[in-house]
Amino acid sequence: MNEFPESEIELMWSEPRSTYDVVIVGGGGHGLSTAYHLATRHGITDVLVLEASYIGSGNSGRNTTVVRSNYGIPEAVRFYQHSVERYRGLEEETGRSMMHDRKGLLWMAHSEAGVRRERARAAVNQAFGAETVYLEPHEIAEVCPEIDLGCGGEFPEVMGASYHQGATARHDRVVWALAEGAMRLGVHVVPHTPVTGLVVDGGRVVGVETPQGRIGAGVVVSAVGGNANRLADMAGVRLPIKTHPLQAYVTNRYARSFDPIVASGDLGFYVSQTARGQMLLGAEIDRQPSYSRRATHDLLASLSHRAITVLPFMRDLRVLRQWAGSCDMSPDYSPIIGGTGVDGFLVTTGWGTWGFKAIPAGGELLAERIATGITPALIEPFALDRFERDRTLADRGSAGTH
Ligand SMILES: Cc1cc2nc3c(=O)[nH]c(=O)nc-3n(C[C@H](O)[C@H](O)[C@H](O)COP(=O)(O)OP(=O)(O)OC[C@H]3O[C@@H](n4cnc5c(N)ncnc54)[C@H](O)[C@@H]3O)c2cc1C
Repeated sequence: MNEFPESEIELMWSEPRSTYDVVIVGGGGHGLSTAYHLATRHGITDVLVLEASYIGSGNSGRNTTVVRSNYGIPEAVRFYQHSVERYRGLEEETGRSMMHDRKGLLWMAHSEAGVRRERARAAVNQAFGAETVYLEPHEIAEVCPEIDLGCGGEFPEVMGASYHQGATARHDRVVWALAEGAMRLGVHVVPHTPVTGLVVDGGRVVGVETPQGRIGAGVVVSAVGGNANRLADMAGVRLPIKTHPLQAYVTNRYARSFDPIVASGDLGFYVSQTARGQMLLGAEIDRQPSYSRRATHDLLASLSHRAITVLPFMRDLRVLRQWAGSCDMSPDYSPIIGGTGVDGFLVTTGWGTWGFKAIPAGGELLAERIATGITPALIEPFALDRFERDRTLADRGSAGTH
């Protein structure tokens, strides 16, 4: 039952001043969450968020809305579990509906190696606070009778799955509610204003250039999604990020309710049902790095083939819309958050195909880092310098799709 059915979000736009304590580049979930938490947790409201297009126009408004913490390494499980818990309280905190809906997530294995992976996932999740159990095939059938466990004889049969307590939430409402919460406390959010350069003085970033002129800043935060390298270049920072397209599509309404999120690690796809009853499907990134947001027929055909084989009821549905986003992929499939080695310039990036779920925790902890100068323990492992310290956090099996 939604407790906030009538809540209308009110966004109050501002004209930028000439200088701010903090300028955040990028009005996606992470930029706005950082602004929201600076204002609500630390009383820092002399903050400007500059967005090149409209807020949420990047990946934060293009994702498949899965919220989960069933990652494969302790550092990630702890961080994402904190974010899952923050999502559970975010509607009450902001007073705005985000259509947050708790859902079980089945992550299926079709091979011995897959079974070992899912058993290990359940074990590491339980050890570090996430709610995940391992299920045998007959238990999978109880949770989701629609799955053809034999995969039509076309793909290897389903041999087991991990089953996790996750959720979905309406992506635009998350973006808007955080923007509204920040604006109410005096944060300025300015859409349709790209940052075209960074002002560097004595080795420190001290402002940004926009088509309307220069704006001074005590601190500049890059929260630009798939454009991370373009902005970092302006500060002379080299990030280990490659931008890859990620596509998704949605069907018309399936008349029956379909509760779980169903994912296959071995087949590389996942499916859930939206609040409107549509089936929402996603897969892995396009292999070729690119800034393109084109949707391709190849993806549509191969993803549909996999999904229809495992969930035969989907044969009767029609494709309504297909789209793509530009994902900032890190080499170890973990985020990069915090300082860059250049004074006054911080990044929140490497959110790839999995950063929607991280919006509450990512913004909260980056705001704490900015306000106090101390890196919170939950994000310490995700520092940029982990690559030169040989402390990478490889988690591809958990972060590859959603
Ligand atoms: C198809 C798809 C499905 C996904 N599914 C999931 C999922 O189910 N669960 C999950 O957790 N994650 C998912 N993700 C990933 C998730 O959407 C992203 O990791 C997350 O939204 C990143 O948020 P962000 O704020 O860092 O970036 P974005 O939302 O991309 O925001 C960056 C913003 O910066 C702006 N910008 C860029 N350059 C400039 C500039 N120079 N000046 C000013 N503004 C600029 C852009 O216009 C953009 O609005 C998915 C992504 C895609 C594309």
